[in-house]
Amino acid sequence: MIDLRSDTITRPTPAMKEAMMHAEVGDDVFQADPTVNALQQKLAGIFGMEDALLCPSGTMTNQIALRIQTQPQDEVICDKRSHIYLYEGGGMMYNSMVSPKLLDGDRGRITAEDIEAAVNPDDVHFPVSRLVSLENTMNKGGGSIYKLEEIRKIRSTCDRHGLRLHLDGARLYNALAETGESPVEYGQLFDTISVCFSKGLGAPVGSVLLGSSENIKKARRVRKVMGGGMRQAGYLAAACLYALDHHVDRLKEDHRRARAIGDMAAASPHVKSVYPVETNIVIVELNDGISEQWMLEKLKEKGVLAVGFGKGLVRFVTHLDFNDTHLDQLAHVLQTI
Ligand SMILES: *Cc1c(COP(=O)(O)O)cnc(C)c1O
Repeated sequence: MIDLRSDTITRPTPAMKEAMMHAEVGDDVFQADPTVNALQQKLAGIFGMEDALLCPSGTMTNQIALRIQTQPQDEVICDKRSHIYLYEGGGMMYNSMVSPKLLDGDRGRITAEDIEAAVNPDDVHFPVSRLVSLENTMNKGGGSIYKLEEIRKIRSTCDRHGLRLHLDGARLYNALAETGESPVEYGQLFDTISVCFSKGLGAPVGSVLLGSSENIKKARRVRKVMGGGMRQAGYLAAACLYALDHHVDRLKEDHRRARAIGDMAAASPHVKSVYPVETNIVIVELNDGISEQWMLEKLKEKGVLAVGFGKGLVRFVTHLDFNDTHLDQLAHVLQTI
């Protein structure tokens, strides 16, 4: 099977497993796991932020970021396609008792202007606008990339209104690989950043929350109460460290293959359009009257897995375990449907 359902399906490479096997470990709840500490320090350094915290998932890092920077009754401003709203089980309402103000950005990217217009006046009828959350790259927008210039404007809008700014950077490394921008620029603009290692970077488990020492101290307390305080987590951190050293530069290959898939899909008689392919996600819009279920079944019959992404939409995601041979096979499959 050629599995393009997600970049989370990759399995650790032999070399990554080797690095995991030889990790030096300790009890991370006592902050005594040297490999976890090394990962957290390394990532904080890369982003020029004060501290970092390893968590089991990106849902947890996002949820912690919201929890430590909001009060119940506050409002979180985000795009209506955001992972924090759509795919975290209503977590912001459950964990933090906050509501979302949903904006409709360009393929998921909201602007400073949108945010300016969404901030509530100081009036008891309205929730208190407290935090803005961006997603880069934007999953539901087809892996779209934010312009750093727009994020700078968003930061000043946030400063003017006393809003905190969080980045769901599950695929931030995909954006950086494409733009060549420096992680430090991101570190300067956001209060908190979540980075996933279990997506394109190919680690089996792990997301890191970045922030100020004060925020990460609070985050450690919330991680514990959510049940995310792990013990000899260094085995997992070793995979993340390995990914940082070996799987960052290769992300551009995933993007090249995703662009090729976009071109192939556009040539299919069943396809109306393809979202612009900016990174490793390809969203294909099928012709009217063709359901995503039909397309997914046809693909599956021919050995290709993808996912439905809303009415008439199919998503393919390229990753570490998808190579040029698979790409040729996929080209053949798409030609024969
Ligand atoms: C995958 C993902 C997350 C985190 O998901 P987990 O499965 O909980 O690690 C967060 N945001 C985005 C945009 C994602 O794609």
